[in-house]
Amino acid sequence: MINPLLDFSGLPRFAEINNDHITPAIKKLLEKSRATLVSVRDDNAAPTWQNFVQPMVDANERLFRAWGQVSHLNAVMNSPELREIYNINLPKISQFHVELTQDQQLFEKFKQLHDSPHFDELSSSRKRIIENELRDFRLGGAELSPDKKTRFLQIQEELSALSAKFSDNLLDATNDFSLRVENMDELTGIPADVLQAASVAAEKDTAYSGSGWKFTLHMPSYLPVMQYADNRQLREKMYCAYVTRASELGRNASPVNAESKLDNMPLINKILKLRNEEAKMLGYENYAEVSLVPKMAKSPKQVLEFLVDLAAKARPYAERDLLELKQFAAEELNLNKLEAWDMAYVSEKLREKRYAFSDQEVKQYFPETKVLPGMFRLVENLYRIKISPAPESRKIQYWHPDVKCFDIGDAEGKLVGQFYLDLYARPSKRGGGWMDDAIGRRRVADQQRHNGAIQTPVAYLNCNFSAPVSLDGKLRPALFTHNEVIVLFHEFGHGLHHLLTQIDDLGVSGINGVEWDAVELPSQFMENFCWEWDVLADMTQHVDTGARLPRTLFDKMLAAKNFQSGLQMLRQIEFALFDLRLHYDFDPASDKTVLQLMDEVRKQVAVVFPPEYNRFPNSFAHIFAGGYAAGYYSYKWAEVLSADAYSLFEENNVDGLINAEAGSRFRDEILAVGGSRPALASFVAFRGREPSIDALLRHNGMSAT
Ligand SMILES: [Zn+2]
Repeated sequence: MINPLLDFSGLPRFAEINNDHITPAIKKLLEKSRATLVSVRDDNAAPTWQNFVQPMVDANERLFRAWGQVSHLNAVMNSPELREIYNINLPKISQFHVELTQDQQLFEKFKQLHDSPHFDELSSSRKRIIENELRDFRLGGAELSPDKKTRFLQIQEELSALSAKFSDNLLDATNDFSLRVENMDELTGIPADVLQAASVAAEKDTAYSGSGWKFTLHMPSYLPVMQYADNRQLREKMYCAYVTRASELGRNASPVNAESKLDNMPLINKILKLRNEEAKMLGYENYAEVSLVPKMAKSPKQVLEFLVDLAAKARPYAERDLLELKQFAAEELNLNKLEAWDMAYVSEKLREKRYAFSDQEVKQYFPETKVLPGMFRLVENLYRIKISPAPESRKIQYWHPDVKCFDIGDAEGKLVGQFYLDLYARPSKRGGGWMDDAIGRRRVADQQRHNGAIQTPVAYLNCNFSAPVSLDGKLRPALFTHNEVIVLFHEFGHGLHHLLTQIDDLGVSGINGVEWDAVELPSQFMENFCWEWDVLADMTQHVDTGARLPRTLFDKMLAAKNFQSGLQMLRQIEFALFDLRLHYDFDPASDKTVLQLMDEVRKQVAVVFPPEYNRFPNSFAHIFAGGYAAGYYSYKWAEVLSADAYSLFEENNVDGLINAEAGSRFRDEILAVGGSRPALASFVAFRGREPSIDALLRHNGMSAT
């Protein structure tokens, strides 16, 4: 029996992969990658792309493809056993990674290749890959002395273990809390489908003896409680549990259970110290500088100025938003002091009153069965592609019965790429929505073809939406809130970036090699279409009546779109500024604590202040476990790019927004080129000029002056 993780002939064989396959497969692939490394390194011939770079690309692709499947399973089908195996193998992978970027001889050979006449003959993609390699070598410590290298390696390993632990703690702490309610009277305001799901959850939980309603801190349960529950104590309890997750105040960090290591703050402090040490070793002042080297933004100072400028523009709008909320709470809801656990509730009530609709009402119009085909139609028209469910005859293997797989074909019907879609939330799946690459596009050697064959890309698209529920014995399709539709479009935008690339070299095809702070351009760009009547109306059908979304309701949604956009923008800026300063001018060795910095940042930009017990940093996985360190600003940065890119479609909106010319230009200049050239160059090629902040402000109902 061949180990399914070692089969690279097609799509991953998820149904056959079991935990016992993982360690042997990774061991074997690591050996092969190391052997290849040694053989190309010790080859005496002058390095060329063919004799030097290509063999390593081939070997490492296999390793990272197999490991990608393991990490994917760990994220979507987490179990204690898998997690343990994952955590045993993770340090081996990161160690290899560091070995690669620390290999002095390899570094020398890359430099030799870069300086040789052969380099000038290479394609611009390959040149860029080599330049990126040299940059990563430097950032990976290749220029350090041997004793420093040992320490550097140690830091990398520790950091990767700390990040994994941070993430595990957060998931455990999230799962650890649940709230059982026995009395229906305490649940007024909460929508029926949420109650139905809570009742099913209680039935399934043997510790609950099956009765009542069980609420958890997972989004589909937590959020509706915060938005709709009239019961203020219930909201407070849920809020308190949510914002103290993985902290010293968390439930599982009580003195009784002091041994439970779910407090993330010690990990945060260690992570910051190690990052700081790493930056100093590399000759930088701070970790933010290191983080920005491969990014589009030029310096931490430039980012700081960008954020502070945006905060100043958004502040008057945020103040206005808050004032409205306070007045409404006092006058209409008899809440004289607006607490943190009232914010979502009061917002929803004010929104309902002002725009006379609720998320729940809108949700009834967005069944999965209309939304998906609608989204597919849009991108089919924009980019001249065709999306269809993968035929059953192909016997594609899945990790869960809810997952589906789709093909993307070009105008001629040729396969361009494929993607898996895993839409629903479950306890074994990490939160949020995300896209991951399963296979990258590249040209591979093919005996039949002189030019080689194209390996088509494959993506995983993951969300955490509510699954279909049975109502009166009838299974209803999954219903999405408008916000969930936006999340779906967003992740699909990442997917298209990965899947519609036309680049033949793995290192810069699709999202590979794209600057971090520009990587959200295609995803946020897609979100704009969720606000276009022509696009949206076609993807709606009321789950009971079958009616399309009424134009009047859409107009209200549109009017509500910028509802509290000032508060929201300030909140994002607060997180971004906190992240940047944490890695820029904060000294983890000083007396000042992370929470004090958080306070300081809030005082600088926020207009809303949470209770003292709020431990937001402890669950800020983006920057402590997700690769966004000194990079959270990227969301806003890329939003400037995506809003400005989209404004070309608005300007050309003569015969409908689906402007084929602008669509192909977006596909060719942004999506297709991937990381083969700097993001700024791609943007200018598409837009005809450098990015401007105006479209973002306008889309948020703010004026630029
Ligand atoms: Zn994204």
